[in-house]
Amino acid sequence: MIKLRKVSKFYSDNDTVSTGFSRIDLELNMGEFVVITGESGSGKSTLLNVISGLDTYEEGEMFVNREDTSGYTTEDYEMYRKNYIGNIFQDFNLINSYTVYQNVELGMLLCGKSKSESKERILDLIEQVDLTKYAKTKVSKLSGGQKQRVAIARALAKESPIIVADEPTGNLDSKSAENIIEILHSVSKDKLVVVVTHNYEQVEKYVTRKITMHDGKIIEDKHVNASPVIEPDSAIDLEMSNLSFANQLRLGFRNTFNLPMKFILLLLIYLFMTTAVLGQYSSFINTGHQQELMGFSPFFSDISAERIIVQKDDKSEITNEDYDKISDIANISQIIKNDVILDSNASIYDDDYYFYGSVYSLENLQAKKITYGKLPKGDNEFAIEVNKSSYNYDDLIDNREKYFGKTYTLTDENSGIKISDDKIKLTGIIMDESQISMENMGSISFYVSEDSVKNITRSFFARNADTTFNFDGKTLEVPASGYNQVVKSSEKVAEGKAYIPEEFRYNYTNGYYYNKPLTIDASTIYFDSNLELTVDKYFTEKTINELFGINKDDYPEYSSTIFVNPKDFDSLFAKGYYQSTVYMDDEKKSDETKAALVDAGFKPLLMKEAITNFAGEFGFVLKLISGASLIVIIIVLFFIAYFVIRLVMKSRNIYYSTIRILGGTKENCESLIKIELLTVLLFAYGLVLAFIKMVQLKYINIAMLVDMISFLTLGDYIILFVILSIISLLIAKRYSKKLFKKSAMSTYREEE
Ligand code: ADP
Ligand code: MG
Repeated sequence: MIKLRKVSKFYSDNDTVSTGFSRIDLELNMGEFVVITGESGSGKSTLLNVISGLDTYEEGEMFVNREDTSGYTTEDYEMYRKNYIGNIFQDFNLINSYTVYQNVELGMLLCGKSKSESKERILDLIEQVDLTKYAKTKVSKLSGGQKQRVAIARALAKESPIIVADEPTGNLDSKSAENIIEILHSVSKDKLVVVVTHNYEQVEKYVTRKITMHDGKIIEDKHVNASPVIEPDSAIDLEMSNLSFANQLRLGFRNTFNLPMKFILLLLIYLFMTTAVLGQYSSFINTGHQQELMGFSPFFSDISAERIIVQKDDKSEITNEDYDKISDIANISQIIKNDVILDSNASIYDDDYYFYGSVYSLENLQAKKITYGKLPKGDNEFAIEVNKSSYNYDDLIDNREKYFGKTYTLTDENSGIKISDDKIKLTGIIMDESQISMENMGSISFYVSEDSVKNITRSFFARNADTTFNFDGKTLEVPASGYNQVVKSSEKVAEGKAYIPEEFRYNYTNGYYYNKPLTIDASTIYFDSNLELTVDKYFTEKTINELFGINKDDYPEYSSTIFVNPKDFDSLFAKGYYQSTVYMDDEKKSDETKAALVDAGFKPLLMKEAITNFAGEFGFVLKLISGASLIVIIIVLFFIAYFVIRLVMKSRNIYYSTIRILGGTKENCESLIKIELLTVLLFAYGLVLAFIKMVQLKYINIAMLVDMISFLTLGDYIILFVILSIISLLIAKRYSKKLFKKSAMSTYREEE
């Protein structure tokens, strides 16, 4: 069965070499019950370890079943141990946190036996060693003799042809010792049993062969009783199946929970790691998000992140039905139909006071609370909204009684025209309590009548229309400028009539063009409109003041302006709503809200897409830097976690070397560690997710946390889990690699 020819084993520690045994010739056969004796240090254990493939040898040849082992790889030795050897040690080498049943089962599972096919046999074996009563008892609670019987049952469970026992009775009282030898003897009939002992008398009546060692050499080898000669079972299947995946899971879970202290420690490490990675990851996402929102726009003055500009898909007019559809979309807090005003600026002044700011419709004020004074009503009243950073906050609040009731003139700052003909009265002040941000810094808002808002909108379109004047064949095309308004309204002009500047007299008309036709075509990005008028008057530098109240020095500005009646002006430019703004409750959900708007038939434009980003090209570099620092932190965390987990798992070194001694492969150990770490990760991640859910549901309210997680989507949580899983798998791989750097025996010896 096993044949050694001139085999030597040396131990080398740094520069000293000591001999375990040297030049041993030996042949061991099935059916033998061999006892090796000799004084301490004579090489008995070393010989046993080499025979059982736990240690390597340096010289000579060893044959197993006539096969030379000199070319064996680590994997071959694992296979050999698994299939041929059942080990029994002086100090039992059991898994103390397992029950008797589980210890015996471990031996079977590692050999690829299924759970169900093993059960009966395990119970059989436990009965054979007379421990049925203790099947479910943890091994740590047993006496030495009982422990050794468990070890025997475990060795037998493997059904290996060879049982080696190194001083199996060394730690036992004589009665237990006798019992153990008896059991070993009873199984030796169809196996090869090799027992090392100090105490030859104990085994004397059973042995078939006695080997005595001295100083690393065999000095006596004699057959005592005749042993049955059994041919080695040549059918031993070296490709015996491996620990199945289901059993890996079972063992993995068992290992996760059977030492509560270790589980809690690992869980704490994982909680730390999960929150640290989560924190870093969300701050990475946060930074990117914040950066996206920082920019400026030459077109929009309100660039708040909550704002979405919407048009119909086909650019048609937005109907009331459309607005209803928009209000039904989640996350939309407010609709500003007339959104042109958001990007217009106005001033409100009287003889000794001047405010500058943006204009909102009183329609949008209902939801807000007036802080001082009362809600404005009708066309001639307005309210003013300020925050602490507004330039005249203190004065306005302190002297509000002085300002209430005064009348002011409202002027569109972009066109310079008066918006309301009548002076309007301040009735209320609204305190903007929201946090001061980039967007509302220093700002003031006016809430004015819807009519005033319409005036602003109309003049906006008038400034932003490509306009063509057609005088009976002669045309003047004026492209939109955004600031120059070439059609203006005046009550002085009768309906259907137009006043044209003196400049046009000879350039476009024949000099006496009264009551002759003038058509105006106006075309904006949203609509085209036209109007047929007749020319009523030419106005000049001399008459402009008399006609329109405009200073004659300003005449050059009006030298290509046509004045029409307000009704005609409206028919050109008051064309309903083609573009509106909606505000979101939560800008972090902007992508979902945008998608919902698209589904409803709109063309949405998010502010972050409309602005010129401050970071610009550099934004990519910034993202790269914050991404790189995220990776660095994850790597650092990996090593911290690895270091701590290794410390915790150190208590498991014995367990894994036992697995190896029982024939578990490196892959087996690695996957057991992987399963264990992944299980802990699942627990930790579950706990963290539950905590996050509580924060989201407002059971726990920590503002910073709410902010931190509000950016994370389902996809992010999946990515995070993948990152943490990869970290766990790498740690498991690294740890098991470390474990397998040394032979099973040396790991085991180190831990003793
Ligand atoms: P026994 O089991 O007969 O008491 P061992 O096989 O344990 O003897 O030891 C045989 C010799 O090998 C001894 O001289 C011992 O010092 C040496 N030896 C055993 N194990 C080691 C080891 N791990 N490192 C170095 N020397 C060892
Ligand atoms: Mg020994």
